[in-house]
Amino acid sequence: MVTKFCPRCFAMNKPTAERCEKCGADLDEPIGSDYIDRLIHALEHPEPNTRAMAAQLLGRIGSERGLNALCKKAITSRDMALLEAVAEALGNFRTQEAVWALAHLLRTSWLSVRVRAAEALRRIGTEQALTVLREVGANDQSPLVRRIASEQKTTARKGDSDANER
Ligand SMILES: [Zn+2]
Repeated sequence: MVTKFCPRCFAMNKPTAERCEKCGADLDEPIGSDYIDRLIHALEHPEPNTRAMAAQLLGRIGSERGLNALCKKAITSRDMALLEAVAEALGNFRTQEAVWALAHLLRTSWLSVRVRAAEALRRIGTEQALTVLREVGANDQSPLVRRIASEQKTTARKGDSDANER
């Protein structure tokens, strides 16, 4: 990561900084529940990079509240860059809610969002996620999405033994 985000004001700081240049907060502050609230709030941040970063961090933290906020964004947002980040983040949650939200993203008009949604579903790899890939992704107008959707078995990279199966 090139920059470090302030957990309080979401200003960008140098990767080596320990305190925020803008507000002086401790940049290595432990992740508490109000940190998640601030990240959810930052999904509305005026700076597009910050919105996307907040989505990524919520995906990495993996809290239930974060998941709910990401799912809501997936359905309501029209911000392509944010939706790309949301799709990627949702791939960290092996839940029905995440799969439903990704199924929605797999039907959007933006190719880059659909590609990330397909990749995220593959990463989730549950029966339900694979069904969505089969039924929606495999019929996508883009060959790229169709290819991702048909490579269902490779959830892990080591799966060489599966390669000869079909
Ligand atoms: Zn700050």
